[in-house]
Amino acid sequence: MSRFISRRFDLLKEYVPGEQPQDKKYVKLNTNESPYPPAPGVIERIHGGEVRNLKLYSDPECRRLREVLAAQYSVGIENVFVSNGSDESLSFAFMAFCDTDCGAVFPDISYGFYKVYANLYGIDYKAIPLAEDFTIRPADYYGANATVVIANPNAPTGIALSLTEIEEIVKRNPNNVVVIDEAYVDFGAESAVQLTKKYDNLLVVQTFSKSRSMAGARLGFAIGCASLIADLNKIKFSTNPYNVNRLTCAAGEATLAAQEYYDANCRKIIETRAWTAEKLAALGFTMTDSKANFLFAKHSAMDGDALYLALKARGILVRHFAADRISPYLRITVGAPDEMQALIDALTEILQSGGLT
Ligand SMILES: *Cc1c(COP(=O)(O)O)cnc(C)c1O
Repeated sequence: MSRFISRRFDLLKEYVPGEQPQDKKYVKLNTNESPYPPAPGVIERIHGGEVRNLKLYSDPECRRLREVLAAQYSVGIENVFVSNGSDESLSFAFMAFCDTDCGAVFPDISYGFYKVYANLYGIDYKAIPLAEDFTIRPADYYGANATVVIANPNAPTGIALSLTEIEEIVKRNPNNVVVIDEAYVDFGAESAVQLTKKYDNLLVVQTFSKSRSMAGARLGFAIGCASLIADLNKIKFSTNPYNVNRLTCAAGEATLAAQEYYDANCRKIIETRAWTAEKLAALGFTMTDSKANFLFAKHSAMDGDALYLALKARGILVRHFAADRISPYLRITVGAPDEMQALIDALTEILQSGGLT
């Protein structure tokens, strides 16, 4: 830190992304990317021409991409906002809808970025403890008198709330925005997008990073009533009007044209998740009921940190959080079947050798 940094950022603790090591090739099960490549049409679209248009700015309204998204989700184009990763939609939502006096509430164990945004923007927040079994208790969020932010399914637990439970939270906070972060919704949870037509205080955020194989392109979107979207645009046009670049816009359009390919990938990942869960249970792991593209697992005989290190030494990367209550656990991305076989083989070996690497 230099002596010039603004005093308000002195104590800011930044978000720490999962490792993206460049030293060797790992079986990478640590950041919930898709094991499957983008659809052929996406690759063609980028190679086939859009790259030549890079000398020109992108459409600041991302009109074509928003039209396709609107059609896919049966909403109007005025109900769709696109952003540089869904992180940016979340960031803008914290900026737009939280005041210093009316803050934010979110679960204490959830996506680590919520707390970072709240701190970055000087927003008061309350982290509400998950129940003993790591579920979110909807009633804890009724009458929150603050912006409510919930990941559904939640991360890193993978546990989902039902649509009825989400609707009840939205209904019980009529004068505050409820943001539902659906980064993992395509792997088995119910989306709240259609409820945005009924409630003017609901904003649903999704991403192309997980189920749509495009983490490196940075594309996310938010769906809500037209006035909420206008508020997000106010923030966007005051920070970075060209927030989504040309290649990403084109790739996003081509992605939506190949929906069946991505649906099939999600079905494969759900199958692989069930296979892996069964193998992990046989090795003595217990897990939450994950509806996401990762499993959240702990072993009775070995600590999360030791398992993480032993796996890394064998070329397999998973995510370990050294935080209260969840430090015994590993968050393991569901990769391709051969990757999960490699994981199970490595764990079998580690547990047989008593954890010695
Ligand atoms: C991955 C993730 C995001 C952000 O993804 P982007 O790559 O920025 O679109 C948002 N919320 C949760 C809960 C996530 O796990």
